[in-house]
Amino acid sequence: MKFALTILGVNSATPAHERFPTAQVLQVQHQYFLIDCGEGAQSRMSQFGIPRQKIQHIFISHLHGDHIFGLPGLLFSFGLNDRKSAVHIYSPDGLEEMITALLRPMEAILPYPLYFHVLPAGKSSLAFENELLTVTTIPLQHRIPTVGFLFREKERPKNIRPEKIAEYSLSIPQILAAKNGEDILPGDGRIVPNSELTIPAPPPRSFAYISDTIYDESIVPLIKEVDLLYHEATFCQDLAEYATATKHSTARQAATIAKMAGAGQLVIGHYSSRYQSVEPLLNEALTIFSKTVPGVEGREYEVPYVS
Ligand SMILES: [Zn+2]
Ligand SMILES: [Zn+2]
Repeated sequence: MKFALTILGVNSATPAHERFPTAQVLQVQHQYFLIDCGEGAQSRMSQFGIPRQKIQHIFISHLHGDHIFGLPGLLFSFGLNDRKSAVHIYSPDGLEEMITALLRPMEAILPYPLYFHVLPAGKSSLAFENELLTVTTIPLQHRIPTVGFLFREKERPKNIRPEKIAEYSLSIPQILAAKNGEDILPGDGRIVPNSELTIPAPPPRSFAYISDTIYDESIVPLIKEVDLLYHEATFCQDLAEYATATKHSTARQAATIAKMAGAGQLVIGHYSSRYQSVEPLLNEALTIFSKTVPGVEGREYEVPYVS
């Protein structure tokens, strides 16, 4: 029942100081979701043991190179490995055109279906849904159309109280009905209310991915009480004016958003190459939000399972 983020690349703009541009993988149980795909993502996947063939859904925040230059190589590798299962890519408009233009002169034909899903950048919308989770976009203010993503587990069934199974001699169908919230008729004319039979399911786990963006408090309601928040922190506060001019955030601003949202934990990243050590960024964020940790490539950030 894993819900964990692995960072593949945590730098902005260019590779530097042994850090790669932006890419992450969220594992939800047995499923792997790739979020942005900067240069180097493939080698980092191999290095960190991410099973790349299990990736079926790729979420791209925007079309700046530090978030997509690893994508053509990954799509080619899928083909070279004779992949047959479909790949779905979700992004603001323009990515299909870009990838198609790259494939055409090579006369390359991928041996698997590739689907592009265009996300509206100016409003929050449902990007993806399956049996485990939903992915909702978060409109971000950057130099080109950009979205963040909120991954949220679906409600799990209620837990049955074991002693009630024996007390009412519950059958398997009755147990399943109770887990889905129904009252039970044990057969003696009584109605046993669901609240007596079950324990509420623990709240669904969530992860929000915010990169790249100017400081923007309007996103706070969309990420309220998120368990794990990744927020870009490209610069320290002394470069706040430059951050605003380039539509990025400072570490202090990232921490302020995390605090306002009541996030369970903040992971900062998208570091500028001017910082060889990320200590100044981390220390600055910690003055505002104590539950801040640095984004480190290869490190796993897990939201624990509560049973
Ligand atoms: Zn970027
Ligand atoms: Zn960007």
